[in-house]
Amino acid sequence: MLLRHTTPKEIDRQALTINPAKTCQPIGAMYAALGLHGCLPHSHGSQGCCSYHRSALTRHFKEPVMAATSSFSEGSSVFGGSANLVQAIDTIFTVYNPDIIAAHTTCLSETIGDDMTQIVSKAHEDGVVPEGKHVIYCNTPSYVGTHVTGYANQVTAFVKFFSKATPKKRNVVNLVAGWMEPADMREIKRMANVLEARTIMFPDMSDVLDAPLDGKHHMYPKGGTTIPDMVATGDSKFSIGLGKYTTEDACILLDNKCKVKFEVVDIPIGLKATDRFITSLSRHANVPVPDAITDERGRLIDFIADNHGHFYGKRVALWGDPDTLIPLCEFLVSMDMRPVYIVTGTPGKPFDERMAAILKDIPEVKFMSGERADMFRMHQWIKQEGVDLLIGNTYGKYIARDENTPFVRLGFPIADRAGHNFNPKTGYVGATNLAIDILNALLDHRDRTCAEEKFEFQL
Ligand code: SF4
Repeated sequence: MLLRHTTPKEIDRQALTINPAKTCQPIGAMYAALGLHGCLPHSHGSQGCCSYHRSALTRHFKEPVMAATSSFSEGSSVFGGSANLVQAIDTIFTVYNPDIIAAHTTCLSETIGDDMTQIVSKAHEDGVVPEGKHVIYCNTPSYVGTHVTGYANQVTAFVKFFSKATPKKRNVVNLVAGWMEPADMREIKRMANVLEARTIMFPDMSDVLDAPLDGKHHMYPKGGTTIPDMVATGDSKFSIGLGKYTTEDACILLDNKCKVKFEVVDIPIGLKATDRFITSLSRHANVPVPDAITDERGRLIDFIADNHGHFYGKRVALWGDPDTLIPLCEFLVSMDMRPVYIVTGTPGKPFDERMAAILKDIPEVKFMSGERADMFRMHQWIKQEGVDLLIGNTYGKYIARDENTPFVRLGFPIADRAGHNFNPKTGYVGATNLAIDILNALLDHRDRTCAEEKFEFQL
């Protein structure tokens, strides 16, 4: 067994993380940057960081992820990477011709203290940024925060560098997308279209990391929020942020900069979170909810009602990002399941407060956020008292195998399965997909392990 060394006995740890439930800031910044059309992410640091971030995204999406690096050497590590970045900007525009370079820092460039504002100004002064092209940047020191923080910082930079207000507001609602799959972004845009709401989504990875194969290489796939749309977000009449941890900062900045009021709701995972999103969109876009959406909701409820006996009382352990875990736990509770162990490596009080409220009727619950909320600890909790289901990214497969527990893959990264970027988990349709995945995982396990006389042909 792969994790046989995990013991049920917990020892108080102050300065040790084992199997963290998070990864590093620039991965989030790189992922978000891919949601702008014609944008090349740029890692200001050593080649190793960039390779790791690219490969982490590539392994998850099964798509080649393009990104450039400042390629720090020993010299730049000591004297600073200004010359490297200016040279890189020149080379990138000459060779790869993106519309935008979205640079983010790494631990190394942050530790040296490279001043991104000054370096990018110098690139403009040196004339290496062609007319009509853009270099944007954000700070993503990975010794604070997580990939979630990096994503939020990059999305906020989009607003900082592009959003502009003119005197004329437009009847458009900005949808500020938190960390989710391209399929989820596609699904949320589909729902908005069915409502006939006029929206701008940013960032938008649909048709970037799930782009069709057409026999040609597209350095910049057709998807992604365009620069004109990104600029126009400043004239929208309202913003809806999807996920507090990943979008609230961008919404606040857009309000301060362009007077676009906002509401932050959960990523619409599950029945109630989707209800809140649809209600918010309907109200702020001033459009009614059509029957087609109500029918999707009804089909979800029908599926849950039909299979409620299989969901009821099942104990679940989960790990991942707070913006995903909060609505996900709420959804499980609404199906009468019992999320009992939850960890996220991303620190923050809002997670703890929301979890306490959502899980108030589950006295045995244990949840934790921050550096010490690692997967080793969650495994120890499971060793103390087992669960019926695991939900999280691929790192949980070791626990699933050790404990012989059904496992539904959700979150980032999913390196050992395919299709997660095609199969939405948001909206009523996505919630139905998720409930089906959960049910089938439980039933597959039952069929594999039940006594022979209980082995049934019929559900
Ligand atoms: S943690 Fe820091 S040094 Fe390590 S890959 Fe991430 S940015 Fe690079």
